[in-house]
Amino acid sequence: MRKCNVQMVAEVVNRLAPRRLAEEWDNPGLLIGDPTTEVKKIFVCLDVLDDKISQAIELDAQLIVAHHPLIFRAIKNVRFDLPLGNKIARLIKNNLAVFAAHTNLDTATGGVNDVLSEKIGLVDVKLLGEEEFSMCRLGNLKEPLTAADFARHVKKVLNADNIRLVDAGNFLIRKVGVCGGAGADFIQKAKFFGAQAFVTGDVKYHDAQAAVENEIHVVDAGHFATEFPIVHVLAEYLRDELKDFDVEIFEDTSAKDFFATI
Ligand SMILES: [Zn+2]
Repeated sequence: MRKCNVQMVAEVVNRLAPRRLAEEWDNPGLLIGDPTTEVKKIFVCLDVLDDKISQAIELDAQLIVAHHPLIFRAIKNVRFDLPLGNKIARLIKNNLAVFAAHTNLDTATGGVNDVLSEKIGLVDVKLLGEEEFSMCRLGNLKEPLTAADFARHVKKVLNADNIRLVDAGNFLIRKVGVCGGAGADFIQKAKFFGAQAFVTGDVKYHDAQAAVENEIHVVDAGHFATEFPIVHVLAEYLRDELKDFDVEIFEDTSAKDFFATI
């Protein structure tokens, strides 16, 4: 079997989610590690949390591939007594590299939002808008649904604990816009392109107000539940692409939303 290194995995991820698709403010790519380090085990997860680092160490992995960049804004210290510095120290001490594919994976064909559209069962899925690239998708339901029934459907297919519905009136949903994570900025655009509902996470009070005023239902399924499905898809993609290499791919199956409903 051929040997694999960090750079080769990075290239495989970049084929799915090219770096140029990332937003300007984003920080994807190799965040910790050496491109030439040999990789025999990879751990795929959504967030590089303390317990995920522990899992990767337990597995004796050399690389974590995550959706959210561990290092996002410029850091001015690496203090072991603070959460981020502590994580960086643990990763380095354990020779663990970290690679992130964030908004480039949101935008990519077959990425976060195609996976989300597929989970919801949308058909005729296309980009939201007329741009060459978009994070958001627009697709049709096979059968029209009421807002409440659609929200229940989303809750079920995403296995979400907590769904919030902004019911914008008594009209059925045929066309749906989606943006996993925090996509409330695109609600009105989805309405403009004919959606009766939008699925995203992190919706704020005034986003909900604007949605009602613009007569588009919003299903806030949570940042976590709208993005977590990508972990399995990304792990499967890596298994397939790296099948001729001496490398094993493990995926996080135990992550939970930070929010609980009381
Ligand atoms: Zn996210």
